[in-house]
Amino acid sequence: MRQSTLFPKTQKTAPTGAESANHKLLVRAGFIDQLMSGSFSLLPLGLRVAKKIEQIIREEMNKIGAQELALPLLHPKEVWNETGRWEKARDIMYQFKKDEREYALSFTHEEIFLDLARKHISTYRDFPVKLYQFSSKFRNELRAKSGILRGREFIMKDLYSLHTSKEDLDKYYFEVADAYMEVFKRMGLAVIMTEAAGGVFTDENTHEFQLLAESGEDEIIYCPGGDFAQNTEIATVKEGKQCDLGHGPLLKAKAIEVGNIFRFGTAYSEKMNVSYTDSGGKKQFAYLGSYGIGVTRLVGSIVEVSNDERGIIWPKSVSPFDVHLVSLDGQGEKVYEELRKAGIDVLWDDREDVSAGEKFADCDLIGIPVRLVVSKKAGEGKVEWKERKEDRTEIISIDDAKKRLKS
Ligand code: ATP
Ligand code: MG
Repeated sequence: MRQSTLFPKTQKTAPTGAESANHKLLVRAGFIDQLMSGSFSLLPLGLRVAKKIEQIIREEMNKIGAQELALPLLHPKEVWNETGRWEKARDIMYQFKKDEREYALSFTHEEIFLDLARKHISTYRDFPVKLYQFSSKFRNELRAKSGILRGREFIMKDLYSLHTSKEDLDKYYFEVADAYMEVFKRMGLAVIMTEAAGGVFTDENTHEFQLLAESGEDEIIYCPGGDFAQNTEIATVKEGKQCDLGHGPLLKAKAIEVGNIFRFGTAYSEKMNVSYTDSGGKKQFAYLGSYGIGVTRLVGSIVEVSNDERGIIWPKSVSPFDVHLVSLDGQGEKVYEELRKAGIDVLWDDREDVSAGEKFADCDLIGIPVRLVVSKKAGEGKVEWKERKEDRTEIISIDDAKKRLKS
């Protein structure tokens, strides 16, 4: 893409009132725009990152046998009444009346998934069921001030599964946990799987996926050897206690919750009559699991843990483009076409009325992992290669640049 056509231009200053790094940098670099508190547009650059993140999650979900679908976002009150959550979740849900009927905007989808499932399952042979989606969630968040980490409207990947036994649910639950760890690994994020209480919606322990970050709202206690972690809201252990496996004293740190998985057992299935006949012909209730990852929260979280005083530093796997090509001295079109032909996704700064200094500042702000400069100084057939996270530059041939970018 030609940067001269990219919407919008970058900004030199952060928006007033922005407190968090993700809010300041993502707005300045043109990834997001705020409509109101907790409500953001994903602009072309921001949407590219979100789609990259979604694709990584999609691949890992498909590997564990889940199928993608799309559930409605506008829900009738009646289905939420079946579990009692119309009342119980009143504070967080956007509920409203239209022409004498009451509705809610989706804040999660357990009830909607269960309503769908009960129409289509009848025998134990129909199990397990594993369905997921990427969609908007609406929550009446009171503290919506950490940029896109906490939106009133945000994108979540939510997966729901149904099983015929607790053992089968447990087994899949930990398969999903492994898939989540793989997702975060592919994004280069050091995420810690953390035990946490289920809150108002389930008695069973849940697991949160916590990204260590100074700006995080959560606090966890964890073993530096990686075998144990708890959210301090529920922690049964104390910071400084020696790890049982000899990894030294337990540490305490701030973290951002980027994912959460739940086992609901049969509680909701009993309320909604999600049942089937077992091999002996007896009626049984299905076991429900529910698994979420915050897609837009991840966009912001990556910025929180990967930036410097000049801007964002995207990991390669989620960067909006593979390479930022900068033209000086009016050159570069040939290189742009050549890279594109090689299947490389290029943001080409083709702007003619912008100084070299401003172009480089934009590269650093936007944060694509590799910058290539075409100039008279670099010479014919050559480019200057620089990685965002390093200061070193080198002159290499265009062929070598292509090879490196493809590897
Ligand atoms: P939090 O404790 O941060 O309010 P939650 O525990 O209520 O989050 P879940 O219901 O577990 O959130 O949702 C699953 C995932 O969706 C979370 O792990 C998080 O990544 C993401 N998420 C939840 N709320 C928001 C929000 N308001 N804005 C952006 N992402 C969110
Ligand atoms: Mg949670």
